[in-house]
Amino acid sequence: MGDYVWLDLKTGREFDVPVGAVVKLCDSGQIQVLDDEGREHWIFPQNATNIKPMHPTSVHGVEDMIRLGDLNEAGILRNLLIRYNEHVIYTYTGSILVAVNPYQLLPIYTPDHIRLYTNRKIGEMPPHIFAIADNCYFNMQRNNKDQCCIISGESGAGKTESTKLILQFLAAISGQHSWIEQQVLEATPILEAFGNAKTIRNDNSSRFGKYIDIHFNKRGAIEGAKIEQYLLEKSRVCRQAADERNYHIFYCMLKGMAPEMKAKLGLGLAREYSYLTTGNCTECDGRDDLADYSSILSAMKVLMFSETENLEISKLLAAILHLGNLRFEARTYDNLDACVVVRSPDLMTAASLMEVCTNLGIMSNTVVHGIYGRLFVWIVDKINAAIYRPPTCESSVIRRSIGLLDIFGFENFIVNSFEQLCINFANENLQQFFVRHVFKLEQEEYNLEDINWQHIEFTDNQDALDMIANKPMNIISLIDEESKFPKGTDATMLYKLNSQHKLNTNYFPPKNSYETQFGIQHFAGVLSAKERYLTHRFLLKRSPTLSSQFKRSLEMLMRTLSVCQPFFVRCIKPNEFKKPMVREDLRGTCQRIVSARLGKQDDWQIGKTKIFLKDQHDMQLEIERDKAITDKVILIQKSVRRLKARTNFLRLRSAVVFIQKVWRGYRSRKNYQIMKSG
Ligand code: ADP
Ligand code: MG
Repeated sequence: MGDYVWLDLKTGREFDVPVGAVVKLCDSGQIQVLDDEGREHWIFPQNATNIKPMHPTSVHGVEDMIRLGDLNEAGILRNLLIRYNEHVIYTYTGSILVAVNPYQLLPIYTPDHIRLYTNRKIGEMPPHIFAIADNCYFNMQRNNKDQCCIISGESGAGKTESTKLILQFLAAISGQHSWIEQQVLEATPILEAFGNAKTIRNDNSSRFGKYIDIHFNKRGAIEGAKIEQYLLEKSRVCRQAADERNYHIFYCMLKGMAPEMKAKLGLGLAREYSYLTTGNCTECDGRDDLADYSSILSAMKVLMFSETENLEISKLLAAILHLGNLRFEARTYDNLDACVVVRSPDLMTAASLMEVCTNLGIMSNTVVHGIYGRLFVWIVDKINAAIYRPPTCESSVIRRSIGLLDIFGFENFIVNSFEQLCINFANENLQQFFVRHVFKLEQEEYNLEDINWQHIEFTDNQDALDMIANKPMNIISLIDEESKFPKGTDATMLYKLNSQHKLNTNYFPPKNSYETQFGIQHFAGVLSAKERYLTHRFLLKRSPTLSSQFKRSLEMLMRTLSVCQPFFVRCIKPNEFKKPMVREDLRGTCQRIVSARLGKQDDWQIGKTKIFLKDQHDMQLEIERDKAITDKVILIQKSVRRLKARTNFLRLRSAVVFIQKVWRGYRSRKNYQIMKSG
């Protein structure tokens, strides 16, 4: 009685694994168990083959999953689940940190925590992102070796927040509170304004990859940094999916810019611009575009953007919005079909902002993509000009660095195109890097040292990577070649890919001669996935050398990483709702809340998607919710006061901005849906 077991429900669903359960009753020839998700099951002893005893390490969970007796998928999942349910979001697997996104501000990033995690060995304190940052810093100094931290996970899993927390920790412990430190930290709000957007998966989704290399002098103080950016999603400038927004900067500018300046640029409200409304969403809950605009401007001051440069940036952003509102008319010239731009105030303003005449000639979305893409690259260069200090003869010998890689995760959409191929190719490289460090190099070393060891099975993605980018006539080089070839089309490219790779087991040719897709067996991430790419417009919309440029910058990144000692942080998204502590069982949660507050189910009933309540009960719940919010606000205010007493202005400001965002989040949050009955 009270024993813990693994219950195999054998539902046959994908990703199905046994769930943890506790035996409640062994009576009258039946066993009653309650599983981790709160469901009760009755099992006949003769059918008890689907329950197995649980290893004691799995009962209450462990900090390092290497210690799990049941070291299998079910064991790992339960371990993460029971810790997450107790708001413990960090867990180790050896030196790899697993981080489950809490979607709420946890009081675990205070200056006290920074102090607690400084100069500690991994495992001395509970798992934490600060422990990884501290070990990077400590190893860099002790081994005099560059370090890197590879942060991976799907969109919304918490990569960018983890990167920021590591940066915050490093800035605090390298501890000069210097101008350069402040500049490195203030680069983030600028990059996020121009490179992040609200998507359905993440309200602050990074639409570019980045590698921040932080340089330290021999005393271990931050001396400078360099930011490398990868593959900004340019198509978002002209088109957004339903419920998604364009880049934050556009909305911030329209909310925060002074009215006289807006008038000068001919700007109005977000809803007036076609490029800001294709997703039918101009606001984002929990974000304050107005307040963010002033943070962006002050960060730009810190990063040495001049007044003139800021004005030029605003002019380009405004021009893009006006260009998006242009209309075209079909015309025939000399028996040729053509189209002309309809003359409009938007045309005049766009032309004057860009200092060109109104005979714009060819205008297409590609031009606009191009303007924004170049602006983004220019902004990153500008930031680097402020924070990068080229090594001097003396400092190049003693300068050490910690690199933080925050890059887009593996993508598999209904329609995958060239962009997804590049992203997945980057992830295959990182997967190979992980495989090499965690399995291959380790096992090679055992062999060299004649150590007795048991071979560990792992999936090596080297063959797939060779086919995509390494072998002669690889996929990237064929795409590149075809885009330079004047007569190259998507069809000729597909033909060449097929003739070269059709016998490779990692390549899937089109099923018939009409199909315009090819497939690749990918290994990046936990599971291997067969992904099909649509070749339509593969060669259009882009500069001929884009694939080789991307390949080159990725090779450079991999070379940089290969000379560093790596740390890995794996971020996990606990649900699709961008909310804390939700699981799929919303109905069960609602039922639990209402029965805890209103007692027995006499005056209320639960339907499929709604709870039906009496008026006075609805009122009672509303009062309790208001009280809960007030309690949280008081708690937050208290912690702000505590922080104020202890921290310097800069860290305080970023903490307050973060806390305010969460606070706004609480105000707008509705955890359950209520419909009143008479
Ligand atoms: P990714 O970069 O992986 O796409 P983000 O780092 O932007 O994801 O995280 C998405 C959102 O999740 C953040 O905006 C924040 O609201 C929340 N979040 C992520 N990590 C944390 C954390 N450690 N504490 C609190 N909230 C977090
Ligand atoms: Mg991100």
